[in-house]
Amino acid sequence: MKERIDPNLYNDLEKFGIDVGNWNECYHCGNCTATCPLTEKGSLFPRKEIRFLQLGLKNELATSAEPWLCYYCGDCSKKCPRDANPGELMMSLRRYLTSIYDWTGLAKRIYTSKIFEIATILVISLIVMVLYLNFTFFPSGEGAWTGNDGGVLINKIAPWKRIHFGDWLMAGTLAFFLITNIFNMWLNIIVKDKSVKVPFIAYFTEVFSVVINFFTQKRFNKCDNDNKPYWVIHLFLMLSYVMLFTMIVFFLQWFQTDSVHPVWHPQRLLGYISTIGLFVGIIYFINNRIKKAKENSKYSHYTDWTFLVMLFLTTLTGILLHFFRINGMAQATYITYLIHLMCLVPMLTIEVPFSKWSHLAYRPFAIYFANVKKSALKKQVKL
Ligand code: SF4
Ligand code: SF4
Repeated sequence: MKERIDPNLYNDLEKFGIDVGNWNECYHCGNCTATCPLTEKGSLFPRKEIRFLQLGLKNELATSAEPWLCYYCGDCSKKCPRDANPGELMMSLRRYLTSIYDWTGLAKRIYTSKIFEIATILVISLIVMVLYLNFTFFPSGEGAWTGNDGGVLINKIAPWKRIHFGDWLMAGTLAFFLITNIFNMWLNIIVKDKSVKVPFIAYFTEVFSVVINFFTQKRFNKCDNDNKPYWVIHLFLMLSYVMLFTMIVFFLQWFQTDSVHPVWHPQRLLGYISTIGLFVGIIYFINNRIKKAKENSKYSHYTDWTFLVMLFLTTLTGILLHFFRINGMAQATYITYLIHLMCLVPMLTIEVPFSKWSHLAYRPFAIYFANVKKSALKKQVKL
């Protein structure tokens, strides 16, 4: 395949954070690739990506799965004699690729304009507020506000069926964008690469890698011991999020109750475990980014902060909501529920298909597509 050199590639990538390291100073000693615990025969990143960037090979970058195979341990950046910061470069490429897969153009706008991202969050929050005030039964009498007419009746104010309808609408919309973006990823990584002919069967033999890598993030485990806590906390955070998301989207009737169950009740236990997972993860990652002691937390793109702040606010309002409800504080519960939704909905709408959180889906699928190609190549060599 003939490659076109794009002289504007650097300018395109600048706003995704690519200018953090001296990547143009790289003299291809190969230290980074030799150091990387995840690179292997056939995928010699991150040096290869730096070469693509230096040569302006936009198509090679856009069709590469390798930025997703990196888990950003930061070892390569520590060992680079030219301060090229290949670890952060791979991170920036993941942002760039997210915008390449996204056909709506929203990911690019979110990753390249702070104002656009904040304005989008505010607009979605306002829409949620308007919908909530129009489709729920905000209390009118004094008794309802104080809980004197029967306690905290969250299902009377915001019936679970109505909230559930909203959940399904949101989940369906997010799934539509995410799935179509993953389809674009497949087009880029597999279909556009004419050097490999993938037999249909390879998609089936490798399908488990999506599930395994999603639920275990086991490639992270290959990074050195310094990164083990990072892997464990990242995994705990992700599983907690999946558990809460599942309870809200599929079991809201069970999760949003007016009765206060005993502490050992599965509804409360699952809620507490997931909340602890989220909170510990958020505090750990915020602390890392503030201290900048670890290589993978030295540089933060503004979208890293938006994501952490939105997740923090969503978790905090969720905790307060629960506290107010079980303590019979009706007025505080109803207001906090509204604020909680005004944080949760924009956080999910922006982060899941268009920004930081999308890596939860893109990474396992990229590993899957890379494995599919590897298996096809092996067969091609044998023939
Ligand atoms: S270690 Fe640094 S200079 Fe050497 S190939 Fe990697 S990025 Fe380039
Ligand atoms: S950050 Fe770690 S996993 Fe990523 S390329 Fe560098 S050494 Fe490899």
